[in-house]
Amino acid sequence: MRGAVLYGPRDVRFEERDTPKILKPSDAIIRTSATCVCGSDLWPYRGIQPIAQPTPMGHEYCGIVEEVGSAVRSIKPGQFVIGSFFASDNTCPNCNHGYQSSCQHREFVGDAQAPFLRVPLADSTLVSTPDNPPASMVPNLLAVSDVMGTGWFAASAANVKPGSTVAVVGDGAVGLLGVLSAKQVGAERIIAMSRHESRQKLAREFGATDLVTERGDEGVARIMELTRGIGVDSVLECVGTQESMMQAIQSTRRGGYVGYVGVPHGVELDGEKLFFAHVHLHGGPAPVRHYLPELIDLVWKGLINPGKVFDLTLPLDQVAEGYRAMDERRAIKTLLRP
Ligand SMILES: [Zn+2]
Ligand SMILES: [Zn+2]
Repeated sequence: MRGAVLYGPRDVRFEERDTPKILKPSDAIIRTSATCVCGSDLWPYRGIQPIAQPTPMGHEYCGIVEEVGSAVRSIKPGQFVIGSFFASDNTCPNCNHGYQSSCQHREFVGDAQAPFLRVPLADSTLVSTPDNPPASMVPNLLAVSDVMGTGWFAASAANVKPGSTVAVVGDGAVGLLGVLSAKQVGAERIIAMSRHESRQKLAREFGATDLVTERGDEGVARIMELTRGIGVDSVLECVGTQESMMQAIQSTRRGGYVGYVGVPHGVELDGEKLFFAHVHLHGGPAPVRHYLPELIDLVWKGLINPGKVFDLTLPLDQVAEGYRAMDERRAIKTLLRP
């Protein structure tokens, strides 16, 4: 088979790779129906997170089960399934607390930009849909594999509740789906921080009530203006830079919550500033597996359409263009069809 391999900064190749095989009895092989490029793939793509050797890419996937190992019980060939970027056992203490992305037996699933994919711990990692979905639903289900689950976790970590006032820092796919998540949970006011017209439009469609185009200290000042100098109840931090993190902390009211899901790059928090900010901080890699059943159900019932973040669809062999379009911010998120 052929799949995506990153060689170095801005050098993604679509090339021959070994077709994955069952390695452990608990594995499954799936035939990917759709996969995509993640905002976090852009860190190594841009050379900000260096790679040691040519690296297969992709961690967001859904598809049809092709084959299962001898120990797999509930997942069966022919089922349509969705999984997260961390395989998990769903039974260890961390999983039981709802943190499957910190599973004691977690394994990263990192080579999904390919027609076939091996998923470890298949029974506890994959969740099947009630039936084979119509083609139009596949982008929504794919979004649940990471960005929707991550936006949902951001809203949960930021303690968004019915009636909350929320700000979302970051207008990538995760930030936009953070807006959707806050809306779904019942937030009353949702301030999206975005300066790009197409993203602002989608943020509005997903439920944003206000838009703030300023960033950094100016962005904080604008949030304070909008909230009579108090700050918001909940901030979803969906970027991972020093500026975005400080923007999030300083926009939060005293006693409020920051849910941070942007993978931090060079973020250093000043203890004294943190001490006097009086905010709750909670974040990390989203335990998407924890939310899969609930989010699949919302998609299945047509209550959410997170697949709208995919504004570019390409055949998998054009994966390099998919990265370029996101890198140059011509696309919010690229869906790839094997
Ligand atoms: Zn991702
Ligand atoms: Zn576990």
